[in-house]
Amino acid sequence: MILENERAAVCAYARRLLADGLVAGTSGNVSLRAGNLVAVTPTGVDYATLTPADIPVVNLAGAVVSGSLKPTSELPMHLAVYTRATDPDGLPVTAVVHTHSAHATAVSTLVSEVPSIHYALATIGPTVRVAPYATYGTPELAGAMLSALTDRRGCLLANHGTVTYGDSLAAAYHRAQQLEWACQVWLLAHSAGTPKLLPGAEMERVVEKLKGYGQG
Ligand code: 13P
Ligand code: ZN
Repeated sequence: MILENERAAVCAYARRLLADGLVAGTSGNVSLRAGNLVAVTPTGVDYATLTPADIPVVNLAGAVVSGSLKPTSELPMHLAVYTRATDPDGLPVTAVVHTHSAHATAVSTLVSEVPSIHYALATIGPTVRVAPYATYGTPELAGAMLSALTDRRGCLLANHGTVTYGDSLAAAYHRAQQLEWACQVWLLAHSAGTPKLLPGAEMERVVEKLKGYGQG
C-alpha cells in the first residue's frame, strides 16, 4: 500500500479529532503530504470506523491514485494550502487540519479577526483572520481561506470552522486545539464582561518567542 505511514497517521488524527470533540459526525477533515501525493480523509465516512486502507491518496491535481473511497469534499481547500500557502518561517507545508470545533465556529460568526485574548493564538500568527463565508467544498471557499492564511498558519472560516496547517500533523493539530481553546476563553470572558486584549506588539513578540518553545 503506498503512503502506508501517512495513511495511518491521517486515520489516527481523524479519530483523534472526533475523540477530542473538534468535530461532530463526519465533519472536518485531515490530510498529510508526501512528495507530490496527499493522503486525505474520505468524504462522509464516520471517523470512528475509519482504517488506514480507507484513506484515499490523491495527486496535487486532485486525482485519486490509490484507494476506493472518494476524498473529502474540501479537497480544493487542502490542495490550495499545499500548492499556494506559504509558511511565515519558510517551513514546508505538509499537513492540514480542518475542524468544526464549536467555540471557534461560534467566534467565526461574531468577528472578522479573533480577538487577542491569549498568547496561544500566536501559534498561528500575530492575528487570526476569519475568511468570509463561502459554500463548503467550493473553489470560492478555498480562495477566501488562502487570503485569510496570508502570513498565518491558520484561520477561521466564517459560519463554518477552522483550518490550520503545519510541517507535521502534530503541528497542524496543535494549532487547531489552541485556536479552539482560545476561542472558548474569549467567549467565556466576553459573556462575563469586556475582556482586556493583548496588544499587537506583544502578540508579535510571542510569535518570535514561540520559535524557541519546547524541547527543540
Ligand atoms: P467531508 O466529509 O467531505 O470531509 O466534509 C466535511 C466538511 O467539513 C465539509 O466542510
Ligand atoms: Zn467543514
